[in-house]
Amino acid sequence: MVGRDALGPEAGRDYPRGWAELRGWFPDEAACLAYLERLRWRDGFVCPSCRAAGEPWRQTRGRLTCAACRHQTTATAGTIFAKTRTPLPTWFAAVWYVTNQKHGASALGLQRVLGLGSYQTAWTMLHKLRRAMVRPGRDRLAGEVEVDGTYVGGTEPGVHGRQTYTKAVVAIAVEVHEPQGFGRVRLRRVADVSATSLVPFVCDAVEPGAVVRTDGWGGYNPLPEHGYVRHKTVLSATGDPAHVSMPAVHRVASLLKRWLLGTRGGAVRPAQLDYYLDEFTFRFNRRTSRSRGLLFYRLLEQAVVTDPVPYEIIVRRRRPLHLVAGGAP
Ligand SMILES: [Zn+2]
Repeated sequence: MVGRDALGPEAGRDYPRGWAELRGWFPDEAACLAYLERLRWRDGFVCPSCRAAGEPWRQTRGRLTCAACRHQTTATAGTIFAKTRTPLPTWFAAVWYVTNQKHGASALGLQRVLGLGSYQTAWTMLHKLRRAMVRPGRDRLAGEVEVDGTYVGGTEPGVHGRQTYTKAVVAIAVEVHEPQGFGRVRLRRVADVSATSLVPFVCDAVEPGAVVRTDGWGGYNPLPEHGYVRHKTVLSATGDPAHVSMPAVHRVASLLKRWLLGTRGGAVRPAQLDYYLDEFTFRFNRRTSRSRGLLFYRLLEQAVVTDPVPYEIIVRRRRPLHLVAGGAP
């Protein structure tokens, strides 16, 4: 089912062409486990404990036993699906739904579509999938990378129904290709534009050794200490407007804002922004994947190599908002 040829995954063979095919292919736990097993070990099973390769012994409920060391595992052990109480066909439907929502998925939407009993279950599923969309500490950008911050605004219902204008600072890193075009992006909501916020973002998002293009802001001064080559564009020296100096960041920022506007009427609450930034990143970095089914395949492919995140950790890691109030959009 999972293709290994150079042409890459194919609709109708490696991933479903539509909702009906999805339901037909994955009616139960066993069918989902078999699919995840092929995605996870595409060149054949490798024991996560002793690293021995070779066909495992198969037991009930998808358990696999290493023939060399007798270690027991499953296709979902050590992934975001580990120890889930949600049936895998429901997870697959959730992945399908998320990758088919052009303007992003909400927990409420997911709860309604899947008929989930609780909002919290839908919310937790979305946040686990988010971990797979942008794998922390992996896939760092390389080569030449533009870095800058942008303000993302949103309205929130305030007390007595009044609208309160809030803004968040979003750090953006974009791979720049020569002579033109750009590669992958990483985005993160940051507290402010200080070195304390920007430097950890660059360290997480960009491989050391990369050339990092920034403006003249002092917040980036420590970058060379962290192994980066900093190319500074001083705006006052060139007189260029920001979008001329940082064309890739400017382009990504405007795409992000347009996408957020299309998401639930643009009323993205700050608390949801982290999730949406990761979803935007996932979609942007796979923008050449024209087929929605291929996005489903890619997200599951990343999900089986993403470490599990217990619910308590997701909740604890929710970052404070640090929103900047006021100012023009
Ligand atoms: Zn083993």
